[in-house]
Amino acid sequence: MKVVCIGRNYADHAKEMGTEVPQEPIFFLKPTTACLYPGQAIKLPDIPGEIEHELELVVMIDSYARDVPVNMALGLVASYSLGLDLTARTLQNELKAKGLPWEKAKAWDGSAVLGEVELPMTASTDLQAMGIELKKNGQTVQKDTTAHMIFPVAGLISYVSRYITWEPGDLLFTGTPAGIGPIAEGDALEGFLNGKRLLNVTVGKR
Ligand code: MG
Repeated sequence: MKVVCIGRNYADHAKEMGTEVPQEPIFFLKPTTACLYPGQAIKLPDIPGEIEHELELVVMIDSYARDVPVNMALGLVASYSLGLDLTARTLQNELKAKGLPWEKAKAWDGSAVLGEVELPMTASTDLQAMGIELKKNGQTVQKDTTAHMIFPVAGLISYVSRYITWEPGDLLFTGTPAGIGPIAEGDALEGFLNGKRLLNVTVGKR
């Protein structure tokens, strides 16, 4: 099982990062040890600088597949939920400036926070028409619709499969909308999809 994450998949987020809207999907990996499961508190890593939240639609893959055509890609998705792609932003900016890989800033233990409610894919599920919202301590900090994704989920699954074989249990984090920001000890984070709370986690001691 692996976690594949998409970078810069909403134009407003690319803008807030001061970066260009990508011409092709950008992806990176997190190891299984990055997964933080429901009921666990976020443990801030021993990394200097800001740790930021990125709320993302997450889809679960349930098949082996390679070179998947776009029109068959959603057939690989068993269910979906929300997740947080936690990012050591200060370190990521340093790594980016040096042209180095992002893993130290992105792949640390507990950096892939998973929602506690998974919803099954049905014939009427439209992954590109969902409200996505993160509240931090009761205040909305990220709010958008998945209709604003630059690359829709089907295209992402297909694109990644040209390079890496999908395996059952894999997770795809589909990118964050604008509104990223720092988290701190004691924060309560709640993620909503179409108004339904799917993710609920607190930030524990560093
Ligand atoms: Mg992200």
